[in-house]
Amino acid sequence: MLVVMKAQATPEQIQAVCEYIEQLGFRAHPLPGAQRTAIGITGNQGEVNRGNLEELSGVAEVIRVSKAYKLASRDVKEEDTVIRFPKTATCAEASIGGRDLAIVAGPCSIENRNQAFAIAEQVAAAGAQFFRGGAYKPRTSPYAFQGLGLEGLRIMAEIRDSYGLRIVTEAIDSESLDLVAEWADVIQIGARNMQNFSLLKHAGRLRKPVLLKRGLSATLEELLMSAEYILSEGNYEVILCERGVRTFTDHTRNTLDLSIIPAIQRLSHLPILVDPSHGTGRRDSVLPMARAAIATGADGVLVEVHHQPDKALSDGPQSIYPSQFVTMMDEIEQIAPIVGRHLPRCIHVDAAV
Ligand code: PEP
Ligand code: MN
Repeated sequence: MLVVMKAQATPEQIQAVCEYIEQLGFRAHPLPGAQRTAIGITGNQGEVNRGNLEELSGVAEVIRVSKAYKLASRDVKEEDTVIRFPKTATCAEASIGGRDLAIVAGPCSIENRNQAFAIAEQVAAAGAQFFRGGAYKPRTSPYAFQGLGLEGLRIMAEIRDSYGLRIVTEAIDSESLDLVAEWADVIQIGARNMQNFSLLKHAGRLRKPVLLKRGLSATLEELLMSAEYILSEGNYEVILCERGVRTFTDHTRNTLDLSIIPAIQRLSHLPILVDPSHGTGRRDSVLPMARAAIATGADGVLVEVHHQPDKALSDGPQSIYPSQFVTMMDEIEQIAPIVGRHLPRCIHVDAAV
């Protein structure tokens, strides 16, 4: 159910409606919009008594939301969600969603301090706003490199201070989630955990943006339902990420499903990034698919970059060289205005030398 408040409703009236909903034992989610506030109701099994709600002051109407996902749906929130990262002592203002494109780049894994700094310096110089590296790695083989853990998080925090890059990194379980929330700016939940519902609920109780990757064989509805798990716990800062799905195709690691972008944008207000690195698994396919992602209307891209991909401890074959990253940024900058977007180049003084 959705309570639509009148445009002139006061904050006190909104608060009173939320309290009324909570008294009934349900959860109220105030969702401010440009014209008016809507309040989503979750936790109810059937219909909430509409008449009583409609009588509360400031209420314009009460609508039944028929989709399985509610808070992720455009029926509940019409305007695009823009996740804002305010300016800090070391980082410039940034956002994900809205007109500005977001560029997330870095190595698959943080391998050591020198490797991470060498890559960070180059992606910062090219104008990325977000540095992504794995400290906790969900690997197919238990014998493969599993990440540096806390040491990796510490290295990334140093990178934020040195280059003004915001940090995105993956949490693989409840324990790493608390640590990632403490050290990073955006928590990644990977494809393999997209339906780890207890992890999603835990992330929903945090107040940090969550980058939710599409599962290896997840449908659009399953992806939005997973986002709903996070939103329903009160964390409204969810970024979706298309990273390819399993198909019979064998010329790429996965099939990057760019057609999900307009479909998501029709149904949901959440921002969506595209990961052409995992989406193709091939260095030579990353730039063409990054260009296509931006042309399709994605809110940005997430790419793996490595200065020595032949020596990378994970995902070397799909990691682009820093020089290719520079080319990708130039190409995205040219495509952006054609689709009404803008590429902010957030060049930190230390990185621009
Ligand atoms: C990653 O981002 O390095 C990763 C493991 O991605 P995914 O969860 O999409 O496989
Ligand atoms: Mn990877």
